[in-house]
Amino acid sequence: MTNSSLLILPGDGIGPEVMAEVNRIIEWFGDRRGLVFDVSEDLVGGCAYDVHGVPLADATMARAQEVDAVLLGAVGGPKYDNLDFSVKPERGLLRLRKEMDLFANLRPAQCFDALADFSSLKRDVVAGLDIMIVRELTSGIYFGEPRGIFEEGNERVGINTQRYTESEIDRVARAAFELARKRGNKVCSMEKANVMESGILWREVVQKVHDADYPDVELSHMYADAGAMQLCRWPKQFDVIVTDNLFGDLLSDAAAMLTGSLGMLPSASLGAPMANGRPKALYEPVHGSAPDIAGQGKANPIACVLSFAMALRYSFDKGDEAARLEQAVEKVLADGVRTADLLGEEGATPVSTSQMGDAILAALDASL
Ligand code: NAD
Repeated sequence: MTNSSLLILPGDGIGPEVMAEVNRIIEWFGDRRGLVFDVSEDLVGGCAYDVHGVPLADATMARAQEVDAVLLGAVGGPKYDNLDFSVKPERGLLRLRKEMDLFANLRPAQCFDALADFSSLKRDVVAGLDIMIVRELTSGIYFGEPRGIFEEGNERVGINTQRYTESEIDRVARAAFELARKRGNKVCSMEKANVMESGILWREVVQKVHDADYPDVELSHMYADAGAMQLCRWPKQFDVIVTDNLFGDLLSDAAAMLTGSLGMLPSASLGAPMANGRPKALYEPVHGSAPDIAGQGKANPIACVLSFAMALRYSFDKGDEAARLEQAVEKVLADGVRTADLLGEEGATPVSTSQMGDAILAALDASL
């Protein structure tokens, strides 16, 4: 495979540590599977501020717009807590999301059998769980106008506006249907059409897109509050859930926690297709820079490794190789290999970040 470019932004804290393991895995796919990536690496977050005085240099932003996929570690840390809001590390990440117009946030909730006891729900409810929440990321109540705190009579009023255009709903619905076709072929759309006009429009547009272009995909609609209940009651009923920015924020965090540790959770944010047909894409673990364990070799690299697996599947159309990597992770966990975050209160000895990388590479070798 050629013409596959990847921009790697390790960032701050544990970002570079977990990304080092991903870099070894990327090399493995080049050496052993002929998937050769044109990889470049750059700075984002606090480390970019240290060098450039901004958390994302213009040249890095321009490169991110050109490549097929961006893979990011994590940003932030106590050293940067007192910086002006405009140059905080998180602004680098927000600039990437905004300028790449990444409107579809994909948050898988997958429960590896070996970790089912980590969930707060019963084993049989979560074991083998594999669902995907697609959250609209660039519109809705976090962006709608008017917004603010205003004087009204003799008191103040806080206002945010939920606003969705038909085209915004249309494009995220399409993203969800396309994904479903690569998975279990089922989409459940969640809103509050019973009490919100934006929800009525959401439901109409999702149904229209379905009927016109995705009649082969099974579509259902659910009120978001009922959806939250069903996610806790029997999450395996879902395949892909598509929902707006606010409900997606809540539902994806709740769903993620069904599966256990923060060190296990990947994510993808996708935008419109580029000239080569691939979507603009940013892949990153859900966790932050974990300053409490940074530099100690304790971080779990799996969230970042699984983010790369998502890149293989959604940017490079290599679902089979993504599955190979996911199965390698599953095997390692089934063999009892654990970083400290996966050990709970037991007294067993954890492996280091690089030992977890070694184990995943060995499992990849064994898959050939
Ligand atoms: P965090 O995700 O960094 O850490 C929360 C807890 O989970 C910590 O105890 C940490 O040690 C643990 N943890 C996280 N990832 C882990 C991993 N891979 N392996 C093992 N343990 C892991 O969240 P926080 O402590 O609230 O934030 C720390 C910094 O990260 C802050 O500066 C925050 O702004 C930033 N942050 C960045 C992102 C991002 O880059 N996308 C996301 C969240 C927080």
